[in-house]
Amino acid sequence: MREITAAAVTETVAALCTEANVLLPPDVEEAMARACREEPWKPAADLLRILRDNADIARRERMPICQDTGMAVIFADVGQELHIAGDFAAAVNEGVRRGYVDGLLRKSVVGDPLRRVNTGDNTPAILHTRLVSGDRLTLTVAPKGFGSENMSRLKMLTPAQGVQGVKDFVTETVRLAGANPCPPMVLGVGIGGDFEGVAELAKRALMLPLDGHHEDPFYADLERELLELANATGIGPQGFGGRTTCIGLRILTLPTHIAGLPVAVNVSCHVTRHRTAVL
Ligand code: SF4
Repeated sequence: MREITAAAVTETVAALCTEANVLLPPDVEEAMARACREEPWKPAADLLRILRDNADIARRERMPICQDTGMAVIFADVGQELHIAGDFAAAVNEGVRRGYVDGLLRKSVVGDPLRRVNTGDNTPAILHTRLVSGDRLTLTVAPKGFGSENMSRLKMLTPAQGVQGVKDFVTETVRLAGANPCPPMVLGVGIGGDFEGVAELAKRALMLPLDGHHEDPFYADLERELLELANATGIGPQGFGGRTTCIGLRILTLPTHIAGLPVAVNVSCHVTRHRTAVL
């Protein structure tokens, strides 16, 4: 069995926290560049240019792209032939602490949801761990701002509402979000599973490449149609109007119960950040 140390996990998570906050993923950069080229409404096109300049400066100066450096969401795929020597969850949280404290990133986490005292180091992280085949550890750090997270929604549709119900719910979510999630948005859509499973699915959909599509042509077409519907709302960049409300939408699906049709929309923004390393 292969072995890695908890210290290696900490070091990797710390680096990923900093990098994710400074560097936009290439597919998000490309989607922003394309939107900039294709946006016909001048105020919206100007705004997209400003947002791209902001991301360029962040990369050059090693500064966060946005002041909301997010709650650290960590996806860990742990190979079942791998032994991690030490406390894994503690190592991840120590990495978040170092990444945010040493990287001078904003600390946005309160230790209790109602009494609301800041923990001072952006811990604890949200940690999703899966056991997979192999002897590697794949770590993805996805800092999530709450301007967009707060606009996310979940609904347990009835099976009879079907695909039209999904379209209506996604469009309604975009309309209700308006300018709050700092559009242009990125939307992760989960369909199927159960109540808690569909929310995680929607979050995972935000990690998928914006230049790709669902492997099932039925859902690939639905991704295209939902993206068009989102852009037809006319909210535009930062709510200035125009046709660029959403630069990417991805769907993930799961089998579900005969009596239900769960759907979740995880709303994200033009600063949709994630960074992956394999140990
Ligand atoms: S929604 Fe995105 S761009 Fe707006 S404040 Fe939050 S992280 Fe920053």
